[in-house]
Amino acid sequence: MKKYLVIPIIASVLLTGCFSEIAADKGAAEQPQQQGTVEEKENQKEEEEPQESEEKPVEEEKEVVEINLQEVQPNEAGEVMVLMYHQIREPESEWSRTPDNFRKDLQALYDNGFRPISLYDYATGNITTEAGYTPVVITFDDGNQNNFNMIQDAKGEWVIDPDSAVGMLVDFHEKHPDFPLEATFFINGGTPFGQKEFVEYKLKYLVEKGMDVGNHTNTHINFTSASKEKIQEELGKLQRLINKYLPDYEVNTLALPFGSKPKDKALFKYVESGEYEGKKYNHLAILEVGWDPYHSAFNKNFNPSKIRRVRASETKVDGVGMYDWIKAFENGSRTRYISDGDPNTITVQENHKDLLSEDLKGRTIRTYTLE
Ligand SMILES: [Zn+2]
Repeated sequence: MKKYLVIPIIASVLLTGCFSEIAADKGAAEQPQQQGTVEEKENQKEEEEPQESEEKPVEEEKEVVEINLQEVQPNEAGEVMVLMYHQIREPESEWSRTPDNFRKDLQALYDNGFRPISLYDYATGNITTEAGYTPVVITFDDGNQNNFNMIQDAKGEWVIDPDSAVGMLVDFHEKHPDFPLEATFFINGGTPFGQKEFVEYKLKYLVEKGMDVGNHTNTHINFTSASKEKIQEELGKLQRLINKYLPDYEVNTLALPFGSKPKDKALFKYVESGEYEGKKYNHLAILEVGWDPYHSAFNKNFNPSKIRRVRASETKVDGVGMYDWIKAFENGSRTRYISDGDPNTITVQENHKDLLSEDLKGRTIRTYTLE
């Protein structure tokens, strides 16, 4: 069943990033809703220079990473857990995970074939997860100090608290380099992660390490009866706070406080994007509180403004906690995403093909049938 591909084409793609951009744009332009001036220009360029496309590759043959489909059994229409944490502290309770249990969670994810991916990459379908593994998104709400705490060591030096979430994530990643250091911290106004003197250090550290900071509103507002002005103020002020420390950082993810949405549905567009005091914001992924794994970004029912989360807890989870879903994936009552290792190709079994969205942004679809 192994597909053998035209090697010279793959090699030319690797050697010329430019070619691969044109190829991707070409695919995108086939879907009119993806139009854009840059893409159109690229297409024109390609038409004007026919010598570059003499050896026109067949769509299926571009950039496909070879894997043994029968062994890996990719399912890129499957579901992804977006885990939701709050406090990391003793004692264990509904909204608090102890440091030991957090370490246990990381180990369980690792042992069960889950690998962290950024929320942005999940929501935009840039799935770089190694073939055969399942992407998982790790999120923390409220910017609690126990998520990212600084302590003094024996010599009086300030170091990251090894029992804070960041300390444990970094430690786990160092011991398991194939478990990417990816997590999103949704913060509020005031002093994110406490410790005023370390706010700048902490925000910069997260982003420099490749983790993310997201919007959780300025005052942790309940959006239910907020006006459009209030919605934009809440989101704009928090974006401004992040950009005060990280001027070039694009704040493009939002976790809804209490999972709340404006009662007046017409106002939801201001949750998605808006402007406050001359500065625009735009959220490419909006997280609800939720209870279960959510669709692959390639699934036709995926909605980036309605991403449901899974409670990463074992207390009062009513059968819908992280460990329940790991079991459900195992016994087949829910279907997990299994990566093909190639962000440009979407691989599903032939009988799952109709689950895919019509707008795959120029990515190649590959199907297979289990032998
Ligand atoms: Zn919150």
